[in-house]
Amino acid sequence: MERKVFLLFSGGLDSVLAALLLKELGFEVIGIHLTCPFFEKNLNQVKEVAEKIGIELKVIPVTDDYLELVKNPPHGYGKNLNPCIDCKAYMLKKLKEIAGENGIIATGEVLGQRPMSQRLDAFRKIEKIARLERKVLRPLSAKLLPPTIYEEKGIIERDKLLALKGRSRKEHPKILGRFGFNVKEFPTPSGGCLLTEPSYAVKVKDLIEHNELNWRNVKLLKVGRHFRIGNCKLIVGRNKAENEILKEKAGESELTLSVPDYPSPVGLLTCSNPSNETVKTAASIVARYSDAKNEKQVKVNVYKNGKLIRELVVTPCRECERFMVKR
Ligand code: SF4
Repeated sequence: MERKVFLLFSGGLDSVLAALLLKELGFEVIGIHLTCPFFEKNLNQVKEVAEKIGIELKVIPVTDDYLELVKNPPHGYGKNLNPCIDCKAYMLKKLKEIAGENGIIATGEVLGQRPMSQRLDAFRKIEKIARLERKVLRPLSAKLLPPTIYEEKGIIERDKLLALKGRSRKEHPKILGRFGFNVKEFPTPSGGCLLTEPSYAVKVKDLIEHNELNWRNVKLLKVGRHFRIGNCKLIVGRNKAENEILKEKAGESELTLSVPDYPSPVGLLTCSNPSNETVKTAASIVARYSDAKNEKQVKVNVYKNGKLIRELVVTPCRECERFMVKR
């Protein structure tokens, strides 16, 4: 077996500690950082951290199969739409693909740190799903866990590994200090898992229910206010930058709407062939968020492929809230 460790690397303190510990034991550590619109970290920060601690970093985007897992996780969701058990197994499978037969697989997980995916029974379940039973090294809690095959074969000295447990991070500064680092040098890279946030989860659920879950629509969840009008989705920009994004992302068959003559948001209707009624409702919502919201009648232009195709006159929506995708 090679002395190469493929470590799931978020750039957070736990993965940093795990990497330093494994390096100290003489292993070459390759940090594997998975990117995904649902749990995006600041990539520059992650790269900086990897560089600082002297490990190679591989950045791997998750693929379409991750969406299937969010849609229908075989082992269920956590509190919101976070499919933690299947998500962790997915990550380990990715690591396995990269590590091959001889690489050692490791994570910076700490026993008892998270309720759903960092319990002993969850570790076992996740390893079983990923077909990596006893092949996932968790150096921060290893002494509290059954030995991995790496420890059994003497590739790794169990005595040199740690016995961290729970959510407390009070040991971390001390351990980091041993490696000559200060905990302040490692701020947590911004960006957590959006699937754990109730207000975000409800928007993803809406996409799932309307069979619209794809990466393009997921990325658009970060832009604008979201409304559901029948089977159509309307996204209304909240500022100039978002308006530009919505215009740019509009597909060939999709409509954009805005109020001429007044400062106005751009609305993007993300469906083909919306009914007249839907377009009228969308226009009244866009008018409501424009500076013409107090007018009785407002002209709204409708564009397809950047070309003006219709002009409507509508009353700005007074009860738009009921169309909003929210909790
Ligand atoms: S919190 Fe999000 S990223 Fe973390 S395991 Fe759960 S689903 Fe995956």
